[in-house]
Amino acid sequence: MNREEGITLYIVVPCYNEEEVLPETAKRLKEKMRALLERREISPQSRVLLVNDGSKDGTWGIIEGLHREDSLFSGADLSRNRGHQNALLAGLMVAMERCDAAVSMDADLQDDINAVDAMLEKYRQGCDVVYGVRSSRKTDSFFKRFTAEGFYRLMNAMGAESVFNHADYRLLSRRALEGLSQFKEVNLFLRGIVPLVGYTSATVEYSRGERFAGESKYPLKKMLSFAAEGITSMSVRPIRYVSLLGLLIFLVSLGILIYSIIQWAGGRTVMGWASIMCSIWAVGGLILLSLGVIGEYVGKIYLEAKGRPRYILRQLLEDK
Ligand code: UDP
Ligand code: MG
Repeated sequence: MNREEGITLYIVVPCYNEEEVLPETAKRLKEKMRALLERREISPQSRVLLVNDGSKDGTWGIIEGLHREDSLFSGADLSRNRGHQNALLAGLMVAMERCDAAVSMDADLQDDINAVDAMLEKYRQGCDVVYGVRSSRKTDSFFKRFTAEGFYRLMNAMGAESVFNHADYRLLSRRALEGLSQFKEVNLFLRGIVPLVGYTSATVEYSRGERFAGESKYPLKKMLSFAAEGITSMSVRPIRYVSLLGLLIFLVSLGILIYSIIQWAGGRTVMGWASIMCSIWAVGGLILLSLGVIGEYVGKIYLEAKGRPRYILRQLLEDK
């Protein structure tokens, strides 16, 4: 890091079908970067890196335009849609070789970009990881807030530790990025992995705004699969619960066995079928559920074993 010139900062923004928000986002980020540059907090080599995650609309065209007009904007185009986490990783890995620190944020700027100042301050104080944490979710709909907070609780209950109310808005120093690059897993859940990288970390609070245009790319269905992904990538606790459940049911069945013998001895063996029906359905359901949980993990092992690339870069637009 060159003290004179300031920190070379990369802002990494994954974009999927974001043509509605991108022009405004670019404008705001440009103002922010200019201000930081004027105060000599960041170096002239600092960039905003927009990662196009295989968008189906004009997102890449907009990124190309921004790059043509202003060398502040770099663009990375993925070969196809790989999802938020992989797109973000692609951007961070490009930034890793070029920056002192990288801040990741969403294209809709729901995360207050002014928190970047505080993140840089923490970085200067020696933190390698700075988490952006939402102080309030007033602007989110009740439903989004309820499901999102439930998400963090479920994650923690299932043993996938993560920073509460922290999404993917964070600063990573170059060496934290290098640490991150050593995690080779294909089932990527950055929020769970970043704490495992270690180093000194800090949190910065901000309030979350509304998406100013476009729609959320995380409908409930994607959120649920994201939660399942996170839990099964970070923890084997669900499998342990399955084993415990099996043990519990075995103990219950011992009780039922004893009860049946007593009934038989007392000559009252012809009982209704209700109890049998109930146990068949209950036990059958639990077996299927348990198989499903184990299947999830087997599927993950399968994907990891193949070790396919997490993203493929089609093109990189940048001015040195
Ligand atoms: N995103 C992406 N690939 C996808 C889905 C989303 O790169 O397949 C990006 C999206 O463009 C945005 C970020 O991930 O920058 C977060 O998405 P969104 O704002 O829709 O999520 P929400 O804030 O509603 O959770
Ligand atoms: Mg959003």
